[in-house]
Amino acid sequence: MTEPDVASSDATNVRTSIQRDGDAYVINGRKWFITNAPYERTKIFIVMGKSDPENANRHLQQSQILVPKDTPGVTVVRPLTTLGYDDAPLGHAEVHFDDVRVPADNILLGEGCGFEIAQGRLGPGRIHHCMRLIGSAQRALEFACRRSVSRETFGRKLADHQSVLEDIAKSFGEIEQARLLTLKTARKIDEVGAKDARDLIAASKITVPMMAQTVIDRCMQMHGAGGLTADYPMAEAYNYARWCRQADGPDQVHMMALGKQIVRRYAG
Ligand SMILES: Cc1cc2nc3c(=O)[nH]c(=O)nc-3n(C[C@H](O)[C@H](O)[C@H](O)COP(=O)(O)OP(=O)(O)OC[C@H]3O[C@@H](n4cnc5c(N)ncnc54)[C@H](O)[C@@H]3O)c2cc1C
Repeated sequence: MTEPDVASSDATNVRTSIQRDGDAYVINGRKWFITNAPYERTKIFIVMGKSDPENANRHLQQSQILVPKDTPGVTVVRPLTTLGYDDAPLGHAEVHFDDVRVPADNILLGEGCGFEIAQGRLGPGRIHHCMRLIGSAQRALEFACRRSVSRETFGRKLADHQSVLEDIAKSFGEIEQARLLTLKTARKIDEVGAKDARDLIAASKITVPMMAQTVIDRCMQMHGAGGLTADYPMAEAYNYARWCRQADGPDQVHMMALGKQIVRRYAG
């Protein structure tokens, strides 16, 4: 979905064109931050673009289409980094599509269904990120706890300093809160489907990456300079938590959507 040339947190901005030409579609556009694009086992892309840019309904202008990675005109231009990490071998890349022709059958669900598909798929995917982030935060806290009972400053173990205990206690509580919210969200998805669980999906998407970023940052601090190095898992985990606040849509967009959903319940 995401393109360097437009604000892609509003998916109606997407500019890549998907034009019907006989029994084929022709795709032109530039994408970036395409996760797994550089990976050698990635064989096919799902590309979102505009098939009907003049449609009065902005949510029916988009389509999604399957594009094999080896189709002529597809170029994986460069891998991208976040805070210096390339997340190899999966990675995130800039990808260009220049007069790429694929069979008309490759369109998913039908022309104009791109937005609908994006909404359906991204919900459960967000919860998977939350699960991994809870694991990352938990691991960082375990490292910090071990560190706190072995490292000494000013004649005492770190764990004997009140502020260190507070950081550990707060982190423990925040991880447990996030775990329960994610579990509740997953259960609601199972019971009523992703569409009707979108309030809790958004709540998880907003709170869990921020929780992980905060907890991992505290644990990094307790490790001194070493905490910022690759000798410990915190730096890479911090990068993951930080980019999850942007990937699948930035915090602000999810807050906007969730806020609207909630106040609508109180509108006469
Ligand atoms: C590591 C990583 C992996 C990614 N993987 C993928 C992928 O596989 N496929 C894909 O398509 N995309 C992917 N993305 C891209 C991601 O989905 C986009 O970055 C995101 O949707 C935001 O789009 P943008 O970068 O164009 O930011 P913009 O749309 O330009 O937004 C910039 C900023 O504007 C602010 N903003 C936007 N709307 C509002 C609002 N309503 N209220 C207040 N502030 C607002 C927010 O602070 C936002 O961060 C990935 C991103 C990262 C970092």
